[in-house]
This record gives sequence, C-alpha cells and structure tokens, in this order.
Amino acid sequence: MIKSQATKIQQPLLRWFHTNARDLPWRRNRTPYAVWVSEIMLQQTQVTTVIDYYNRFMKRFPTVEKLARARQDTVLKLWEGLGYYSRGRNLHKAAKTIVRDYGGQLPDTVDELQKIPGIGRYTAGAIASIAFNRPAPILDGNVIRVLCRVFRIKGNPKDAATKNQLWELAERLVHTKRPGDFNEAMMELGATVCTPSAPACVDCPLRKSCAAFEHNEQQSLPLKQKKASLPHYTIAVGVVFKSDKILIDKRKQNALLGGLWEFPGGKKKKDESFKEATAREVKEETDIEVEVGKRLCIIKHTYSHFKVTLHAFQCGYLSGKAKTLACDAVKWVSLNQLSRYAFPTSNKRIIEVLKIQ
Ligand code: SF4
Repeated sequence: MIKSQATKIQQPLLRWFHTNARDLPWRRNRTPYAVWVSEIMLQQTQVTTVIDYYNRFMKRFPTVEKLARARQDTVLKLWEGLGYYSRGRNLHKAAKTIVRDYGGQLPDTVDELQKIPGIGRYTAGAIASIAFNRPAPILDGNVIRVLCRVFRIKGNPKDAATKNQLWELAERLVHTKRPGDFNEAMMELGATVCTPSAPACVDCPLRKSCAAFEHNEQQSLPLKQKKASLPHYTIAVGVVFKSDKILIDKRKQNALLGGLWEFPGGKKKKDESFKEATAREVKEETDIEVEVGKRLCIIKHTYSHFKVTLHAFQCGYLSGKAKTLACDAVKWVSLNQLSRYAFPTSNKRIIEVLKIQ
C-alpha cells in the first residue's frame, strides 16, 4: 500500500471518530490498567453488556495491586454472567504476574505484553497503541469486517493466509502519530457503521475508498462461515439438602466454566433414568449418597460452545462426608448464602426456582 492510500483512510476516519466516538467509561480513563480490563471484557462481548461489569469491576479493583490481592472467588463473582470465564481467571492471574514481575506496571511493548497470561496479539496491540501510543496494529472482528470490505478481501478471515494478509494491512494502515485513536476509530466504525448485516454506507467516512461499496459487495464480505451446530448435553443435577443446608461444589480450574460453583451433576447416560443419573453423579463428584426426590425444574441454556438441558432434582442427604472427588472444593451453605458464590447462568436459574419454592 502506498502512503497516500493509507492517508486517504486515516484522515477521514480520524475526523469522523473525533465527532462520533461514543462516550464510554474506559475512554474517560486511559490508564494501561483500565485499557487492559476493558479490552479483556470486550472480547466476544457487546459494549452495552460490558459497561456495568466494567464499572463494578473498576470500583472494586481500582488498581492492579488490588486485583492481584483478591481471591479468585471474588473476581469470578464480579464476572458472573459475563461469560468466557477464562478471561476473568487469566486477568486475575495476570495481575499477580504484573505485580510480581513488572513492579505493578503493565509493560509497554507488544512482545512483552504477550508474555502475560490472557494477552494475545490483539489485546497487546490495543494496550500498546491506546495506553502507550505505540504504532501497533489490532485485528478484532470489527476491524476484520472493515478491512475485508474496504480492500475487497475475499478469502476466509479464519484461514492463516488471509489472517496474515489482514494483519499486514492493519500494520501498514495504523497511524504512526495517533495509533490509539486510529485503532479505536476502526473498531468504532465496525461496531456502529460498518455493521455485519446492514452497513450504513451513506454515513461512512470511508465510502470513497471502499472497494466493496464500489462493487456493491458489502453484504457478501467478509466471507461468512458456516456455523457448526453446537453439541447438546443432557445433564442431571442434584440439589442436595441436609436440613437447611445445600451442597455446592467448585468446578475444576481447567474445566469449562472452571472456578465457578455449581450443584453437583453431570451427563446422563443412555441406559439410566434421570434419578439414577442424579444419584450417580452426586456420588461420583462428592462421595455423598442421596435419595433423589421430585424434579425441581428443567433449564435450557446455550453457552458459547455447547447447549445444555439441565434436569434438576431435589435430593435428601443419606450418608457420607462431602469430598472433592471430581471438583476443587465442596461446601454446605444456606439458601441465602448461595448469592455469595459465582455460578454459571444455568445454575443461577435453579437458584431462582429454589427461592420461590
Ligand atoms: S462504505 Fe459501507 S461497506 Fe465500506 S467500510 Fe463503509 S460502511 Fe463498510
């Protein structure tokens, strides 16, 4: 790309951003820590969802030191409902690394940033450019869409060759004096104007440079992926009562939804009834024997990578001392105490049912 081509994109885009940038909480406070937290929360998540989570998180953990000192349970409780929980776990782990190895300061280069847990090339570029004014490129879903359309790129953005082509373009385009503004402007354009299904080309500052617009190919670019159907699991869950206490256990760190609390349960086998599956799963997970009673509810939920249908049963404690056979921790808690722990969304809905019983 010749320099004048880059300028034709940079200047109108920066002018547009100056007057159209949304007023977002992380734009009022561009410390490296604030940029980092917001960028992690924004991965795969809508801005409107993130705002409240970000405000609560920054109020509770205003500094990287405070985050590093927190218990993982506290961090995950604040993350509850935001999804992709490995982001929360990695953010917490990374805060400890930053305090221990970097004197509490985030490093200012893409290479060094990528050594920190949970920071990949995209997030490193965002922090380096927005917080440290380094001319580092970024490439998220919004930027990919804008680049594929402006430069009429027809390859699949998931393929390595196309991905490399896009990174190279992003690198050549980034404004050397205002890299943070430029990168944010690209993301903002993708989020608010060059949207997936109905791009507002008449309002777009890049219309004159956009090859997709010229060829009326906005709708067909970027190449759309066929979505693989999500696996579906049928899960039997035991809500085990021992007088007024309820049994909960913590999912293993390296499992899906790792570090969150849940009611014991697991996949039902083909040849067993729901009640048999519930008793077996409670026993395998916590070594507790139970009598399975009435069905409390059936909950359907779709996570990012799978769907579940939970069949939750009320169970009475029979015998045994709760052990961590297939979990990281076990606890007996009262109904009111359940709100202190972070649960996956599907289990939160079981708690709602318990509260109205
Ligand atoms: S002209 Fe349309 S397709 Fe091209 S970048 Fe702007 S909004 Fe996207």
